[in-house]
Amino acid sequence: MRFSPILSSILYTFSNITRIRPPTPLSYTASIRPLPLRSMSGIPFLGALFGSSTSKPSKMSYPDQRGDDEWRAVLNKEQFRILREKGTEPPGSGKYDKHYPEEGVYTCAGCNTPLYTAKHKFSSGCGWPAYFDSIPGAVTRHEDRAWGMVRTEIVCSNCGGHLGHVFKGEGFDTPTNERHCVNSVSLNFSPEDKVVKGAGSESKA
Ligand SMILES: [Zn+2]
Repeated sequence: MRFSPILSSILYTFSNITRIRPPTPLSYTASIRPLPLRSMSGIPFLGALFGSSTSKPSKMSYPDQRGDDEWRAVLNKEQFRILREKGTEPPGSGKYDKHYPEEGVYTCAGCNTPLYTAKHKFSSGCGWPAYFDSIPGAVTRHEDRAWGMVRTEIVCSNCGGHLGHVFKGEGFDTPTNERHCVNSVSLNFSPEDKVVKGAGSESKA
């Protein structure tokens, strides 16, 4: 009798498997909708859709449309590898990994757009700078299917430079339960907080 619970659970599992039916082609197809096409030329868009995981960031969606040669002229090798070729810095190696200023703004190392404030940063212990949120609109998300995983890539909304990935629901004690895992190489830091005026921290005179 000792094995009967296991046996019955196996039987139960099998009986459930036999009840599983794949979704009908019709309903599956119906769930796929064409992506909204905004003003753009079609060929680069298709290239971005069907390009390999190592494809360069699509230039069409971003205000800053500099080409690779122009980026090479202003970025060092490591910045180009990470920002323009979606590279990743080794964990624990980045200069902003354990950087916790009181105030200031982290900007895109490519185009200097403010991306995160010091207030967004938290200690995740993951080996890369972690932020629970970005400056509104500064960061754009894409599905990333590289390396056999489905992750959410984040890029600079102004130049499309690769920043890192967003992970959700990890249980960190932050307002969003999201972790923007960003390469230090993709960032610069400006100690003068020019974006958020410290709304909650101003003392009354
Ligand atoms: Zn940028």
